[in-house]
Amino acid sequence: MRVLVLGGGIAGSMAAIAAAQHGAHTTLLAPGPGATALYAGAMEVATGHRDLHALAARHPYHPFVRLGLDDLELEAALDEACARLQGALNRVGLRVVGSWRETGWYADVHGLVRPAQLVPASVRPGELASLQGCRVAVVGVTGLAEYDAAATAEALSEAGLEAFPVEVPMGLPPDPTLADLMGRPAPSVRERTDAIAYPPGLEQLPPGGFELLATSPSPHGWRLHQALLAALEDNRVQLVPGRVDAAEVAGGEVRAVQTAALDLRADRFVLATGRYLGGGLLKEGSIREPIFGLGVFHEGARVDREWPRWLHHLERRTPDPGFRAGLLTDEQLRPLNWEGEVAFTNLHAAGSLLAGYDYGRDHGFGVPLLTGWLAGRWAAVL
Ligand SMILES: Cc1cc2nc3c(=O)[nH]c(=O)nc-3n(C[C@H](O)[C@H](O)[C@H](O)COP(=O)(O)OP(=O)(O)OC[C@H]3O[C@@H](n4cnc5c(N)ncnc54)[C@H](O)[C@@H]3O)c2cc1C
Repeated sequence: MRVLVLGGGIAGSMAAIAAAQHGAHTTLLAPGPGATALYAGAMEVATGHRDLHALAARHPYHPFVRLGLDDLELEAALDEACARLQGALNRVGLRVVGSWRETGWYADVHGLVRPAQLVPASVRPGELASLQGCRVAVVGVTGLAEYDAAATAEALSEAGLEAFPVEVPMGLPPDPTLADLMGRPAPSVRERTDAIAYPPGLEQLPPGGFELLATSPSPHGWRLHQALLAALEDNRVQLVPGRVDAAEVAGGEVRAVQTAALDLRADRFVLATGRYLGGGLLKEGSIREPIFGLGVFHEGARVDREWPRWLHHLERRTPDPGFRAGLLTDEQLRPLNWEGEVAFTNLHAAGSLLAGYDYGRDHGFGVPLLTGWLAGRWAAVL
């Protein structure tokens, strides 16, 4: 079986790893990184059993609900997808710890707190509930104007920590930015502390040291992107650079996809090209999927018909609707055409381009991770 995956974010990478681990000869095609390389360092997978159970009633078009699995099957699928991701990353040197069943709370470099279930091991010691009442030094770097350790320490104090700023010189170039910290060894701190919060990007943290979450550009996202590339190679996935701009279809199947330079044939395809930032959906007046011309839906309604009236009205009240519109799929993640029928029998879709997904709402990584894993597995074995 030859499987071709379009997209190199977390969804496409998981799909390719799944297909390869299920015996398919797998190729992944992408022009470069997408939203995955910007993630803050806190993977929001799912907020526990009760949340999953309530999804069907609250969000009937959510990608987890579209899978048609019962609670136990969904939980088992999440267990498997998380374990496979953690295993694949661990093998190439990026340790990601936690379980989707347990939520921790983590601060970013500006002190903003957010939940996560899976985090890099270098972030985990900064879990805020476990640091309540502890003395925490927040490291500020001399000359680094982009980040104010005193303000971050104040925010952490409001979150229940005894946090205080310490400034250290690091010999950075003139007018340094947070990006200049990437890969440098973490400076030591002389003060007596229970833990030390570092801006993200530094390496070789001392005992008790942890990395804060990032804003863009994100060292956590960049490390994850590099580790996914290494994991793909580790799983013998062939990586091909390039952007697909056309497809050859016949008899209800996809036969090949084309980039400016290549014509690539396969038996099964996985579309994981992301959302607006990745390039999987285009918003030009209405919203469209540019490669296969698939249907795009919002709360079950086609956006080509409804967008001008209803969605445009909603969009004025909140920017969210455009971010929940996307592809609808059947229970094997095969995307639908505008008429609501399976568009191509050998095409699966995964990740943030799915309808009902909203990265700000609890499952930022959960949806691309789980749908990527399942789409790749089904592409290999269905
Ligand atoms: C700034 C930011 C921060 C975030 N932080 C977090 C966080 O901390 N925690 C969390 O849980 N979630 C976070 N999210 C959400 C989450 O990171 C993303 O929703 C998720 O990574 C999307 O993964 P994806 O694989 O679906 O898409 P992407 O990562 O966008 O990947 C899409 C891929 O498709 C490729 N592609 C696009 N068009 C084509 C084409 N025509 N042919 C071939 N390839 C193509 C792109 O190059 C890219 O490789 C964040 C999102 C953003 C934008």
